[in-house]
Amino acid sequence: MDIVNLEALTTDPIAFLSTDDARVYVLRLDKVHNIISGNKWFKLRFFIQDAIQQNKDTIVTFGGAYSNHIIATAAACRIYSLKSIGVIRGETPKIYSSTLSEAAALGMKFYFVDRNFYRNKKIPFEIDEQRHYIIPEGGYGAKGAEGAASISYKKSQFNVVCCAVGTGTTMAGLINSRGNNAEVLGISVLKNNFSITNEIKYLLNDKDANVKIDHNFHFGGYAKSTPELFNFMNWMYETSGIPTDFVYTGKLFYGVKKLIADGHFPKKSSILVIHSGGLQGNLSLRKGTLIF
Ligand SMILES: *Cc1c(COP(=O)(O)O)cnc(C)c1O
Repeated sequence: MDIVNLEALTTDPIAFLSTDDARVYVLRLDKVHNIISGNKWFKLRFFIQDAIQQNKDTIVTFGGAYSNHIIATAAACRIYSLKSIGVIRGETPKIYSSTLSEAAALGMKFYFVDRNFYRNKKIPFEIDEQRHYIIPEGGYGAKGAEGAASISYKKSQFNVVCCAVGTGTTMAGLINSRGNNAEVLGISVLKNNFSITNEIKYLLNDKDANVKIDHNFHFGGYAKSTPELFNFMNWMYETSGIPTDFVYTGKLFYGVKKLIADGHFPKKSSILVIHSGGLQGNLSLRKGTLIF
């Protein structure tokens, strides 16, 4: 059951990040599907499989107005002839974001809820156990991590794997599936989200797991940005032709570059950076902010 194009998944050297001490490569998960981009399909796949096995006909999930998870869920449900419902944070907008317009076109129905209601993950309608299957926000959970563990790359080639961290589900999967005792390093995109370490240990079912998160590259917090971040993303695109998103992967690559410059990684490291996709989120930016 693979609805994404795994043939398109490449591991490419990134010359602009490589030094005498570190060879750096990027895993282009952003290329596997034009809508279900990056890590989102991997996190969704076992939830969807489970829903189908349980004969549920509707997926219910949560997200914001620009959520990569919402659009990916809408598209995946469409492909599997499942209905989808998005519980969206915030008031009903006068104009839908590009993400919501596209998700609606894919058949997703929305319930808009205020932030308190959303925070408590309440569902604003009666759940029908026969029909509704609930996927946590961002695909968080054991099934999501199991799916992320199926992200494939040449394990023997790398001693460091770097990824952006939101819910930590992707990172948990990458830790579980790593080879070689590789170091998996997460760049947190939320500000001071120190509880993430325990959330990942919980997903790993190992309270002693060695979970390495860097908290220095959030650029002000989730979906926050600075001109420096945009300059970096534009420079990276000019230099390498690789587009990034400002919520996750821009911060990830910026962080990896800085950490290499600071000599953070062991000498002669071979580093794999996971490009987890999410480029559609850039549509929330003012035109002209990015050159791609
Ligand atoms: C959702 C997302 C992430 C974060 O993944 P988690 O498993 O929630 O940590 C990283 N990158 C992109 C592009 C995403 O859309």
